[in-house]
Order: sequence, then structure tokens, then C-alpha cells
Amino acid sequence: MDGNQELFPCEVCGRRFAADVLERHGPICRKLFNKKRKPFNSLKQRLQGTDIPTVGKEPQSKPQPVRKSNWRQHHEDFINAMQSAKQCTLAIKEGRPLPPPPAPTVNPDYIQCPYCKRRFNETAASRHINFCKDQESRRVFDPAQTAARLATRAQGRAQMSPKKELTVTSAVGALLQNRALEASAAPTRPGELE
Ligand SMILES: [Zn+2]
Ligand SMILES: [Zn+2]
Repeated sequence: MDGNQELFPCEVCGRRFAADVLERHGPICRKLFNKKRKPFNSLKQRLQGTDIPTVGKEPQSKPQPVRKSNWRQHHEDFINAMQSAKQCTLAIKEGRPLPPPPAPTVNPDYIQCPYCKRRFNETAASRHINFCKDQESRRVFDPAQTAARLATRAQGRAQMSPKKELTVTSAVGALLQNRALEASAAPTRPGELE
């Protein structure tokens, strides 16, 4: 009778063995278990029906291309960029401050818009930058540039201070003057016009 023989569970497979058997079984079982965690190897072994250790011939270090997740990332970023471009457009149109930059993910492929400093992928960037440039130049030039132009016109008309330098203040003053003139010179209410 070996009833008094104590059995110990294998820590890997849980089967119980006598101490001396477990001593031999343990390392083998662990090895097998480790191999099982590599599906490629275990499949190969199963097909071959053998247990040949494939030491040093592991095809494991092959670098896996991460195209798929990259593509997904690109796609999401693309959508983000499109949305943010839309937001930007809207904000500019309504004269609101520009929304904060969207992407916490800074992609080196991205092109930064030199006007609003936000980044867009190639497709969005070329369209956005054109647009943003246009908007930006309009914004920048609007009061000053228009005023300057009007001031030049007014100066040529009035000739009162020919040597006075054209400062922004004088330009804006001229603009206001000019607007007042235009307003009074061109009645818009049809009732006043005969
Ligand atoms: Zn075991
Ligand atoms: Zn921009």
C-alpha cells in the first residue's frame, strides 16, 4: 500500500504527484506550459506530434508592423482635424476666439497652421491653411488697412496736412470721418429720397 505516500500538487498543472515524481515532473510541466503560451509553437508541435525544443529558432522577434492601429489613429486624427477646422471656421466667422487646439496626440506628420498654430494632417492642412490665411489677412487688415486706404483717399481729397505722417490713429480718424461722410452723403431711407 502506498496510502501513506503524500501527494503534492504540481504548481503548473495542478495534478498531484508523489514528491519524487513531482521533482521530475515539475520542470517538464513548466516547460510545456510555457510553450503552450506561444500558440505558434504549440501548434507546430502538435502537428509534428513531437516535443522537440525549438531553442534559438524562435520566429518571435519578427517586428510586427503596427499599420492597423496606425491607420485607426490617422483616421481619428483626420476626423478631429476636420472638426477643429470646422470649429475654427465657425469661430472666425462669428468673431469668437478660436477654440483650443484639438489633438493631444502630436503627430510629426502633421502640418502646423502658421496662422492659428493648430496642426492638421496633410489633407486638412492644405485646405485649412489656405482658408486660415485668407481669414487671417482679412482680420488683420480689416480696420487698419481699410482705414489706411481710406485715409490716403481722404488725404488726396482734402490736402490739408500733406506732410503729416500716416499713423494708425489718424488713419482710424480718417476712417471714421469718411464713414460719417458716406453716411450723410448717401441717404438710405427711401422716404427721404424724392
Ligand atoms: Zn504539472
Ligand atoms: Zn489655421
